Amino acid sequence: MEFRALELNSSSSIWNPERIIETLDLMSRVGYNVLVLHEVPVMEELVWPAKFFGAIAEEGGVHRRYREGYKAFYKYNPRRRPTPYHNLDYMRWIARRARERNIDLYLNNKELYFPDAILEFHPELVKNGCVCPSEPFWVEFTETKYDELFTDFPELTGTVTAPGSGESRLAISSSRCTCELCATQSAQEWYTNIISAMHRAATRHQKKLVVRDFVFDHSAQNDLADAMVALDEDITICLKNTPHDYYPTFPDNARIGDVGAHAEWVEFDALGQYFGWGIAPAIMTADLRNRLAFARSKGVTGILVRIDWEGLQGHSALRSMNALNVYASAMLACDQQTTNRQIYELWSSDYSAVRGDLGPVARQEALQWIEDTLEAAWPITSRTLFARDCVFSDSSYIPVSVEHAFWLGEEKNSLRDWDASKWEVLSPTLDNVQIALEEKRVARTLVAELRERVEVGHTGLNPAWHGDLLRRIRTFERYVQLYEVVATAVFGARYLLATGVEADPAVLTATRNSVARLAELAQELRATESTEPYPSVLLLNPQRVDVVREDVEANLVKAGFGDQS
Ligand SMILES: [Zn+2]
Repeated sequence: MEFRALELNSSSSIWNPERIIETLDLMSRVGYNVLVLHEVPVMEELVWPAKFFGAIAEEGGVHRRYREGYKAFYKYNPRRRPTPYHNLDYMRWIARRARERNIDLYLNNKELYFPDAILEFHPELVKNGCVCPSEPFWVEFTETKYDELFTDFPELTGTVTAPGSGESRLAISSSRCTCELCATQSAQEWYTNIISAMHRAATRHQKKLVVRDFVFDHSAQNDLADAMVALDEDITICLKNTPHDYYPTFPDNARIGDVGAHAEWVEFDALGQYFGWGIAPAIMTADLRNRLAFARSKGVTGILVRIDWEGLQGHSALRSMNALNVYASAMLACDQQTTNRQIYELWSSDYSAVRGDLGPVARQEALQWIEDTLEAAWPITSRTLFARDCVFSDSSYIPVSVEHAFWLGEEKNSLRDWDASKWEVLSPTLDNVQIALEEKRVARTLVAELRERVEVGHTGLNPAWHGDLLRRIRTFERYVQLYEVVATAVFGARYLLATGVEADPAVLTATRNSVARLAELAQELRATESTEPYPSVLLLNPQRVDVVREDVEANLVKAGFGDQS
């Protein structure tokens, strides 16, 4: 594939010059050729926009704009006064370091976003306490903002944007404005107006524009996708590999290959926001191979791989075994025939997983052991954080209540919205409860076998790396065990609530036992908390365990099973 983009999402990676250089060096070694820096308000870090503060600098240049506007910038927001020139100078430095390595730089944001002062300059934008997304001013604002950005940032190759996400500051899809303009304008018109404003600026400055599909359900996806197809054909469309979000148990995103004449990129998550952050390792070589083959068959020419998450600072796939996903993605995008061994070889040379003094045969044996061990993690993780392929976690945290668990799986991250055969799989029948709990039991058995295998180890492993792996696998096992108990508690409670006195007595016993076990687990986690490293300490959180236990207990009382006798 022509475009192999690595994306940083976490501020602690983006605004860290040493991390940037490390990342660029890694990209060169592995085969990435585009760096994407993604923050929802990243443009607001780089442009005031000066024109709206009365600062007109015809030639452009962030310091010229500052010369014209420093008093106004100071008056309206003293803290933000120097922000655009500090951060633009930094971003230009990154772009030059990237260029030295033949890597292009893109910024990724969500629109609309704007500084507070804009509402002061244009009070007509606020109607009955709501900011109106449909006022034509926003088109002018967007075009001006990008015009200033592109003028002042010649090294930038392009921008990636998701209009209409609830995570932006203003969008037609999440607006509560009830004015006549909002009532008559379609979501499609709104998307088109905003993207066209950005595209006019991009065209003027010969920058690339990539538009992301960022929606949560079928109807919103169709609104945006129809608008996308109709956009100017030199706009690239970027789609997640699975619909809604990065859930590897979901089917391929059906919109891939179905966006008209546009070039297409497909997005992947190497870290696993929804599959364990690398605390539960998930080496996705097989999944990547299949997804990329599908994407290629649909004419996709680029991938975008995010390696960290904006919701979790100070962590990255590169600080976990999921680093292998970062290597696999670029290598498979370069060449679909890349073997697992080639991926593990390159990764191992960076992470010193095997001893340096081995001959070629012994080295291959050690790599085979590592591959067999780490590839065994995903079948465990998929049975832990998913229940019959449905999402069964809160971005890898355990759910906080019975209702929360099923809201996550059936509504918020609904698989059945995309795959009708999954409509009933979580509903509270005895069969479903038994199947779900059997799945969790299998995960617990497999992780114990994996831990035993890692304890035995292999003579070709670098001892330091082996020690690190063993510590990680023990944490993984605790996490899988916790999920089994939580699943028993919440599936059981929901079933008992639905079934009442007719309930199967074995489920009642299992649910009561799991409540007692949750109390013990919380104690154990409190005792080991000081030795648990970041960020696994977040996921093995005793307060979270107490909170879900309290809710299961309350549900048992509600179902008429409060009496333990
Ligand atoms: Zn309105």
